[in-house]
Amino acid sequence: MKIFDAHCDLLYKLWREPDIDVFSDERLQVSISKLQERNNNIQCFAVFIPEDIPFINRMEVALQQINLFYQRILKKFPEIKLIKTKSDINLLSNHEMGAILTLEGCDAIGDQLNNLQILYHLGVRSVGLTWNFANLVADGAHEKRNGGLTNFGRMVIRYLNEQRLWTDLSHACERSFWEALDIAEYPIASHSNAYSICKHVRNLKDEQIVALLKNNGMIGVTFVPYFTSNRSNPTISDVLKQVEYICSLGGETQLGFGSDFDGIEVTITGLENYSGYETLINELQKLYSEELVHKFMYRNFFEHMSY
Ligand SMILES: [Zn+2]
Repeated sequence: MKIFDAHCDLLYKLWREPDIDVFSDERLQVSISKLQERNNNIQCFAVFIPEDIPFINRMEVALQQINLFYQRILKKFPEIKLIKTKSDINLLSNHEMGAILTLEGCDAIGDQLNNLQILYHLGVRSVGLTWNFANLVADGAHEKRNGGLTNFGRMVIRYLNEQRLWTDLSHACERSFWEALDIAEYPIASHSNAYSICKHVRNLKDEQIVALLKNNGMIGVTFVPYFTSNRSNPTISDVLKQVEYICSLGGETQLGFGSDFDGIEVTITGLENYSGYETLINELQKLYSEELVHKFMYRNFFEHMSY
């Protein structure tokens, strides 16, 4: 069973702790050795700029993280291929896997479409409008004023539509979500869960999920414990509840996973790192057909690749 994981923060961790051994460091939740336990996995690698970096330096940090991606991952492990289009995946041979570069929040681009174009040329294929706060594109989920898209944000989405890139609505505040969904042709929520199951501002309310599904979007169920359940110490059964609930809203063919590994300090019991996917797959297989589990794990995100 192949895995398509729509979100991890390995690049940010590498950037913060340069001495990390990307192949098998214990500090990593997604290491190359774990990714390579199965053939043909697809992993999205997010560029994430922490909020304490001054705006003027954010593009530079984005470029540093992309440089790490090329130097420390693609160059060192030739069996990991940069995926720029769906057909790149079809070209993978048995022992290879795919890496997709994504942007978690448009903070790095400031108000310059040029910067986004540069990131696109370097391989970025999915663009989150915001992280938790406001930037020059839109407001994020923790921005209390709940503002929507700026005019520049609309330009950004138009550009993403033209290039057939994913507009990632995870982290957007509600108003940004609705305004972006109106115009984004390829919307996804790479790592968000259902609010009805777990009341957290980062999760999606039923009407948001239904609208995203109606717009042919994808939802990546995420393993952040406090987005998964309001109970303390959630387990894999709480992830299964998220899956079941999103399916009940019509999400069977538009549901995948976006782990957020290496972006989380606390983890779900049984899903402490990438190897936990093994247990998750086993549990899913008890509840769903082999075909459906394959869709959740891989096929749905693959089918929804617009680029
Ligand atoms: Zn995130």
